[in-house]
Amino acid sequence: PESKRTPLIAGNWKLNLNHLQSIAFVQKLAWSLQDARLDFRTVDVAVFPPFTDLRSVQSLIAADHFPILFGAQDLSEHDSGAYTGEISGAFLKALDCRFVIVGHSERRAYHHETDAIVGSKAAAAIRHGLVPVICVGETAEDLETRGASAVPVEQLGVALEGLPEGADFVVAYEPVWAIGSGRAATPEQAESVAARLREVIEGAMGPDAAARTRILYGGSVKSDNIASFLREPDVDGALVGGASLVVEEFAKIARFQ
Ligand code: PGA
Repeated sequence: PESKRTPLIAGNWKLNLNHLQSIAFVQKLAWSLQDARLDFRTVDVAVFPPFTDLRSVQSLIAADHFPILFGAQDLSEHDSGAYTGEISGAFLKALDCRFVIVGHSERRAYHHETDAIVGSKAAAAIRHGLVPVICVGETAEDLETRGASAVPVEQLGVALEGLPEGADFVVAYEPVWAIGSGRAATPEQAESVAARLREVIEGAMGPDAAARTRILYGGSVKSDNIASFLREPDVDGALVGGASLVVEEFAKIARFQ
């Protein structure tokens, strides 16, 4: 069956571009996509800047009516209180964030986020009307010992446990060995895990959720490989790191058609 899911091209800036640079970047990106006559009814384009950029990005996008979406790279599982350094979903919602990334492999590895914490963060996002982009993926070692899908399937299963029925979320399959390595998964590899993840969604949330939910591929996505991923039936977009930091390259990825 023909997919009715709108592709999502998401740029994860990580720890790059301060708030002044974010304004210049989003302005150039919007102009570049407008010049190329990108039809924003056929693709969602989103950027994920650092927290300190969000207010600037929000103001710019609202003032100029740019059809670009945005989100944060993380949030607290808590709503308020004595949690020094944390940012709540409520604060992100107040800045008009549509999305928030949860469980990126860099958060899991450097900040010891467990599957349970990632699940709490996804639930916190939903609680505040944000769409969590739930990241899952196997390391090179997992791949060797357990195959590609075992760990992502496990991670997603836990993350979905605390979500209410009808929750709106996105899944990003990002093999850790493919992130920032220049060695992307093959489209066939991405499709095979994405199809398994869709089964996990169906089991946990039902067939409507499985049919509706976008599953992204991430890991060394570039303008010259994006089309091959988007041709796969269960891959509905990309989470892009390095290549999202160069305006022309990210604009090309958004115009994958
Ligand atoms: P990359 O990063 O595109 O630089 O491989 C992807 C990600 O970490 O989301």
